[in-house]
Amino acid sequence: MDYYSSHINKLIEQFSRLPGIGTKSAQRIAFHIIHMPKEQVKQMTDAIQEARENVRYCKECFTLTDKELCPICANEKRNHKQIMVVENTRDLAAYEKTGKYEGVYHVLHGAISPMLGIGPDDIRLKELIQRLQGEVDEVIIATNSSLEGETTAMYISKLIKPTGIKVTRIASGVPVGGDLEYIDEVTLLRAFEGRVEL
Ligand code: ZN
Repeated sequence: MDYYSSHINKLIEQFSRLPGIGTKSAQRIAFHIIHMPKEQVKQMTDAIQEARENVRYCKECFTLTDKELCPICANEKRNHKQIMVVENTRDLAAYEKTGKYEGVYHVLHGAISPMLGIGPDDIRLKELIQRLQGEVDEVIIATNSSLEGETTAMYISKLIKPTGIKVTRIASGVPVGGDLEYIDEVTLLRAFEGRVEL
């Protein structure tokens, strides 16, 4: 790759570190940026920097947000006694898009995976258990139907069961291994409405 300028090489190297971006895509993006108006490039780099600096975890549900409390946790009209547990902020967004869920969330930021060496302490599980000290009627486990998602669901239900709080699991019908964010709203609603007590 010596035929490129070292600046372009550096750019390609940076982009190829991103998930799902191979060398070819990285090259395409790098050259695209070189040809972009300078003002537009500045807007883009500013947006990246601002997001990285200002986005943080909601102190209640741990979703990514700009404030101490995310808009969902700050909303008094939501049912704070119903907590839906999801793997990531993108899954939360998928449920929010249906517009039908009125409870709040808890974002784990991952799932238990013995194969990848991800244990219960590596996700936001302790924080979930802490939240259950408050008044909670139901915990809805909406982790993915992958092996990791099921393992996590089982682990959580075993932890919560002794507290007497109702634990439910969204219905299957959500394709196995399917990421929640890719599932259409109707399927998502059906999975939610058909949830079963564990
Ligand atoms: Zn929140």
